[in-house]
Amino acid sequence: MELLLSELISKNRYWTSFGRVATYIPELKNADQNALGIAVVDMDGNIYKAGDYDTKFTIQSVSKPITLMLALMDYGPEYVFEKVGMEPTGDPFNSMRKLETINPSRPLNPMINAGAIAVASLIKGKDNQEKMNRILGLFRKLSKNPSLDINENVYFSEKKTGDRNRSMAYFLRDVGVIEGNVEDILDLYFMQCSIEVTCEDIAQIGMFLANHGLVKETGEQYVPKHITQIAKTFMVTCGMYDASGEFAIQVGVPAKSGVGGGIMCAIPNKMGIGVVGPALDKKGNSIAGVKMLHELSKQLNLSIF
Ligand code: GLU
Repeated sequence: MELLLSELISKNRYWTSFGRVATYIPELKNADQNALGIAVVDMDGNIYKAGDYDTKFTIQSVSKPITLMLALMDYGPEYVFEKVGMEPTGDPFNSMRKLETINPSRPLNPMINAGAIAVASLIKGKDNQEKMNRILGLFRKLSKNPSLDINENVYFSEKKTGDRNRSMAYFLRDVGVIEGNVEDILDLYFMQCSIEVTCEDIAQIGMFLANHGLVKETGEQYVPKHITQIAKTFMVTCGMYDASGEFAIQVGVPAKSGVGGGIMCAIPNKMGIGVVGPALDKKGNSIAGVKMLHELSKQLNLSIF
């Protein structure tokens, strides 16, 4: 496996020069354009890694299916899906176009920014500190990495420049989708996006989803199976921005990408995969990461369809 992964890295690193690192969050400009790394965790807990697997990056939108699970555990699907829909948008992740035109006015799904901000408003806790501790605690548990933490530079950078998210959040309060202090909700969302990880961390989280919410070592059902199914379904339908359909056809696995260059895949009953490649294509997905996953899926016959 490690040999295969190394070959995929060498073959696909070339693509990194055709992408661009995200710059709309100024701090993300500092990412290494040419980095490419991968980690695979199988059902027995074996870890295989290749390339720049120790590159650190912020989790960004890869966090969205996980905070969704927390909100679903806190409030149940019926309430959560009153606030946010279940349908793909065909629009970019930060689009606000359809927010006002659909009736009732609510984000179309929890994987776009507007939807994830609505989800952040549903995390229970007496204050933001407690809410963030719950979010961070979940990521630490699922990644099996107790030292995961926030990259403060990225957090402050996004907080300072996140006007598009800010405007969507105020709009969402106006139409009654979110309640309470908008700046606190945004803060929670910016913090969740700024959790710093490696591709091994997100491969472990992918493995947890692949194993339907069961912690293998202890036999503990940490997240109910039906909730992990909801998360994985959104990963298939909306996980790769407005390239989710193409990715489903070419790679065929539940996956979520983020503008930090991460892609997390959960292949049911098989493995979790984490990729890092900060150079993004036009849709916002790691350009070399997608190519690499396409080939890995073909070689290992990973498509779930
Ligand atoms: N924090 C980023 C934003 O809200 C996340 C975007 C992404 O990774 O898709 O713009």
